[in-house]
Amino acid sequence: QVKVQGKNGFLRYTPEMSRNHSERVDLDNELRIAIESGQLTLHYQPQVDIRRGRVTGVEALVRWEHPERGLLGPNTFIPLAEEGGLIFAISDWVLNEACRQQASWIKRGIVDLKVAVNISPLEFTRADIVERILQPIRTHQLPPESIEIEITENMLMDDAETVIAKVQELRTHGLRISIDDFGTRFSSLNYLRRFPVNTIKIDQSFVRDLETTGSQSPVISAIVGIARGFGLNVLAEGVETECQIDALRLHGCDVMQGFRFSRPVPPEEVVRYIAAQQALETT
Ligand code: C2E
Ligand code: MG
Ligand code: MG
Ligand code: MG
Repeated sequence: QVKVQGKNGFLRYTPEMSRNHSERVDLDNELRIAIESGQLTLHYQPQVDIRRGRVTGVEALVRWEHPERGLLGPNTFIPLAEEGGLIFAISDWVLNEACRQQASWIKRGIVDLKVAVNISPLEFTRADIVERILQPIRTHQLPPESIEIEITENMLMDDAETVIAKVQELRTHGLRISIDDFGTRFSSLNYLRRFPVNTIKIDQSFVRDLETTGSQSPVISAIVGIARGFGLNVLAEGVETECQIDALRLHGCDVMQGFRFSRPVPPEEVVRYIAAQQALETT
């Protein structure tokens, strides 16, 4: 079997793997077993406020520890799970696991760390989605504001009324909401007025462009301006270089996430990362 190293260091599925129906069914079954037998795992990527020099949160990103194929990234199985309906089981697992981990961090004295969880747009078609998100928060007795739900911008377009109502409900319960991949669609300005979010995440494609266009980015200054205007936090995704950091600072964006700071890592490494950060601060 040929293994191809992907951009994020994952092994990629060969295209044939999802080519025909029976292979797809196989994969679907495999994924079902994976969920039940504990092959899913969460890695966490730090979000750093560089002005204050501290880690403000981490984003939970799901991985599949495949017994033969190695560590698989979400892009290889989330789309399939969304087609086959397994996404709901995955989301339930992810939410519970992220809450369990957050409770364990708090118990170890790591407070003030937000844990962000990605929610598939399809989730909002579930009538009981709010209850499903709240339940693990209650079970693990978490402060609701220590959990942030990331929703993608295109979600705002489909059935906006339903999504807005549900997001409002989550906010009423104290959860934080961020818009992921912001700027990749253009419809959101209109919705932002009624959409009670806390944070806008600048899509990594704009951050990547900073490298080729120099430090100027009309898109990034526009997004930062929007965030200011609406009184929202802004975070840049996919920060890989010192040059991007400088440019983002000039644009007034201080909170960043990307390989330059840390890759998504297992929970123990998050603890080490935060400890190292604190050591820097006190020296
Ligand atoms: P996202 O939520 O926009 O997550 C950011 C992605 O960018 C992650 O990829 C992360 O590893 C990658 N990344 C972070 N920093 C850098 C960087 O400096 N450079 C580059 N090139 N990439 C960077 P990942 O983990 O492969 O996740 C891909 C997408 O899969 C996520 O995009 C999210 O939409 C989805 N996803 C991940 N976990 C979950 C989950 O638990 N549930 C659902 N529904 N979707 C998930
Ligand atoms: Mg995300
Ligand atoms: Mg994103
Ligand atoms: Mg994305």
